[in-house]
Amino acid sequence: LAMRVAFLGLGHMGVPMACNLVGAGHDVVGFDVVEGAREAARASGLRVVDSATDAVADAEVVITMFAAGHQVIDAYRGGAGRPGLLAAAPGGILFVDCSTIAVDEARAAHALAEAAGLRSVDAPVSGGVVGAENATLTFMVGGSDPDVDAARPLLEVMGARVVHCGGPGLGQAAKVCNNMILAASQIVVAEAFVLGERLGLSHRALFDVAAHASGQCWALTTNCPVPGLVPSSPANRGFEPGFAGALMDKDLGLAEKAVELTGVDARMGMLARTIYREFVDGGGAGRDFSGIIESVRAPSDDPRSTA
Ligand code: NAD
Repeated sequence: LAMRVAFLGLGHMGVPMACNLVGAGHDVVGFDVVEGAREAARASGLRVVDSATDAVADAEVVITMFAAGHQVIDAYRGGAGRPGLLAAAPGGILFVDCSTIAVDEARAAHALAEAAGLRSVDAPVSGGVVGAENATLTFMVGGSDPDVDAARPLLEVMGARVVHCGGPGLGQAAKVCNNMILAASQIVVAEAFVLGERLGLSHRALFDVAAHASGQCWALTTNCPVPGLVPSSPANRGFEPGFAGALMDKDLGLAEKAVELTGVDARMGMLARTIYREFVDGGGAGRDFSGIIESVRAPSDDPRSTA
């Protein structure tokens, strides 16, 4: 069944996601606050209007794909002379926020929507721009059963997997927990390869053991930080992303907020947060986050090496 969808936030992810909805027969109208983004989206074949109010006026579903949480809250609420999306939208419709934002920001966005008599889900994604283009994203969704069911047909067009994680904010919770695992495991895989080098152990030997033993993980078998072992490694292409350090740094900032909110003793995750902060400050923002192996190697370049 074709739906009238307003798609706001026509950036790296938003444009291919919106194009996939059009491809599936939905009636999509796009908007972005940046004129250049609107032009690029038009060039990709999307119908784009010049105001948020026009975009949402006739919508059945509003999808947002912004960079940060304050942008979602500000857009929902409006202000500084701009009308809020919630006030401009027809009563009772569904808001789907696909941006990666903090759990408490997502809950605040849900509360604003509810107070305005609107339905909402948080639905952050993993899979990156390639996943957005190929419609193979994973959606992690938070909201009530009926609201998630209402969002599901659109999410299934844009992605390959839709996981209902629980109530409002719990899609963001799943995203932040997953990426904290990913950060810590990518660092320790890099440390293990450098330690192996110093001990005289070949990359191949360590890989052949760990990939089939209890050290097995995505950071090793898909995103291997040394070249030549798996075709998917950014290490094969000079650490061209992939998943850029800046995005990992952002997600670990959200993990840190969640850890502060809950008081959990997450020393490992927070050490990963510090290590990726340094990676980005040292020029890693635009490189794949598996490039962390070069930071491990540099300070541990040591004459005591037995290799
Ligand atoms: P992006 O910066 O390319 O796009 C965001 C767009 O939102 C921008 O064009 C911006 O102008 C627009 N925007 C901001 N406020 C707006 C408003 N009020 N109304 C309309 N448009 C507005 O970011 P992206 O790479 O597309 O990522 C979007 C989100 O997805 C981020 O939260 C990111 O963390 C997450 N994410 C990105 C990737 C990736 O690989 N790029 C992967 C997974 C998740």
